[in-house]
Amino acid sequence: MIENNKDIILSAKHVKKYFPIKGFFGKIVGNVKAVDDVSLDLYRGETYGLVGETGCGKSTLGRTLIRLLDATEGTINIEGQDISKITTGEMRKMRQKVQMIFQDPYTSLNPRMRIGDILNEILIIEKIGKRSERMDIVIEMLRKVGLRIEHYYRFPHELSGGQRQRVGVARSIILNPDLIVCDEPVSALDVSVRSQIINLLLDLQQALDLTYMFISHDMSVIRYTSRRTGVMYLGHLVEEAITDELFNNPKHPYTQVLLTAVPSPNPHTKKKRIVLQGDLPSPINPPPGCVFHTRCPIAVDLCKNVCPEMKEINSMHKVACHLVNN
Ligand code: SF4
Repeated sequence: MIENNKDIILSAKHVKKYFPIKGFFGKIVGNVKAVDDVSLDLYRGETYGLVGETGCGKSTLGRTLIRLLDATEGTINIEGQDISKITTGEMRKMRQKVQMIFQDPYTSLNPRMRIGDILNEILIIEKIGKRSERMDIVIEMLRKVGLRIEHYYRFPHELSGGQRQRVGVARSIILNPDLIVCDEPVSALDVSVRSQIINLLLDLQQALDLTYMFISHDMSVIRYTSRRTGVMYLGHLVEEAITDELFNNPKHPYTQVLLTAVPSPNPHTKKKRIVLQGDLPSPINPPPGCVFHTRCPIAVDLCKNVCPEMKEINSMHKVACHLVNN
């Protein structure tokens, strides 16, 4: 994984996102530790897949990285700017460069507005173009995402799920961003349209030189879309590698379990599925030491007390586990 530091578009160091729990009289009695000490870099033009069970903190991490949520601790640099320190005006400019595609296209679109007005509004807020120019830009965006001019006048409820997600994609690219966080962009869609949306995103990435963080609980989607993949468990990044390396040579016990659930393309290959015992522990009171130790089939005493550091085992692969050395 020989990368050039100049190609880093986003660099996150020791990022934490805690949500305080308030008791009587507004006193803070604890925290939901949704993201706990995550460091990662995104390289320009790549797709970085972020995978893990529901509730592992991957969506919260995605939102924190582009400051839709403020980080509790840590630093996040986008194109060399520390986004926790920039002013509201600078953040507004930054918003043009970083966008998000949401899981549920229906709830993320204003049901009372026509599609053309939803897209137009973004240009008005950013003071882009005159009225007639804006209409041309919007129609061009609809065309880019595979919709037609007639969709300009439709309301969200008049579109199918796939068409609504195309509008979500158009909304994310209309300001010509560099980086898009795609938060489960196909998981609410019918299986038949998932591949259309994924292929649309990949085509747009090529055409517009976009960088994606692709968040999904579906390992098959991550394998198809992502050049590198990070695996999250209970707010921690536990493994990160070039995607092929991760799928062919998973090192972390949790990743190995996740991969046993991925169907094999060869129907004659029998895979023994490993099912984790117990539920995902609560992020309010995560286990001490390695957060995975309560479910790990190979845990040793050390794991109960000491949290493993993320170590590089080769130039393509990093793992946080006491028992993995190479
Ligand atoms: Fe399992 Fe211990 Fe490795 Fe954690 S550090 S994954 S508990 S072996």
